[in-house]
Amino acid sequence: MTNALAEYRYNRLTWPEMNEAIGAQKLVILPTGSTEQHGPHLPLDVDLFLCESICLEVGRRIPEQVLILPPISYGLNRHHIDFPGTIHIEPDIFINFCVNITKSVAYHGFQRILIVNGHGSNAPLVDLVARRTVLETESLCFATTYFWFLLEAFERVRESTVMAHADEFETSLYLHLAPERVQMDRAVADQDRVGKYVSSDSTMNYGVRFNDYWGRWTRTGVHGDPTVATAEKGRVIFEAAVEGLVGLVAELRGWPIEKRADLHVHPVQSSIRW
Ligand SMILES: [Zn+2]
Repeated sequence: MTNALAEYRYNRLTWPEMNEAIGAQKLVILPTGSTEQHGPHLPLDVDLFLCESICLEVGRRIPEQVLILPPISYGLNRHHIDFPGTIHIEPDIFINFCVNITKSVAYHGFQRILIVNGHGSNAPLVDLVARRTVLETESLCFATTYFWFLLEAFERVRESTVMAHADEFETSLYLHLAPERVQMDRAVADQDRVGKYVSSDSTMNYGVRFNDYWGRWTRTGVHGDPTVATAEKGRVIFEAAVEGLVGLVAELRGWPIEKRADLHVHPVQSSIRW
């Protein structure tokens, strides 16, 4: 295998090798994370470290099919700003920055791009990044989160009820990947304010979308129960996330890019710039 096919890290290729990678139509993956407080027991890099580790493992398993871009290390985080260290990026800046990356990748000739998100609050933003990339380039761009691919496996091993933040699943993944950086003696469980239709952190489990300033309802920065996390649970869900994404890559690389049909019978104003 040539280096362009064997190397899965985007920025480890030379420009001549990049031509070969474009010829092979590797799927380009952009991991997105955050620099955000994750309770008293985990470092601020959780969303970045977990997401990038999973994407790099996908690369190791199918290097001839993918290129993994350097990750986005920051995200929408002002709701965590009351906790020391958290970095916040305004949504429009995040979206425009990411679209500049996906457009650059599309410009070079890569036809399929996948954003893999590891920070819940980036979800609506990466959705828009993917949509804008499709509408503003000739390439396809898809957005997902690695969480989605481990849900089934997590159901089989979980002991806590809440899946949210610095909780059983994130702590287990970190224990699997880098146990020396997890301070389990400082891990505590915490719950948000919960109503019938809404909660303080109802990004996933509720029909009403709402995320309050975390300084209003938690003094730990934890949502869920990290005390039941184990490295073995982390191994199981890491494997599920990687395997799921490997399957997704196969589907996306085969996804057709059809010629658009124009169904107008009268002239359109094709000079309009959106
Ligand atoms: Zn997180």
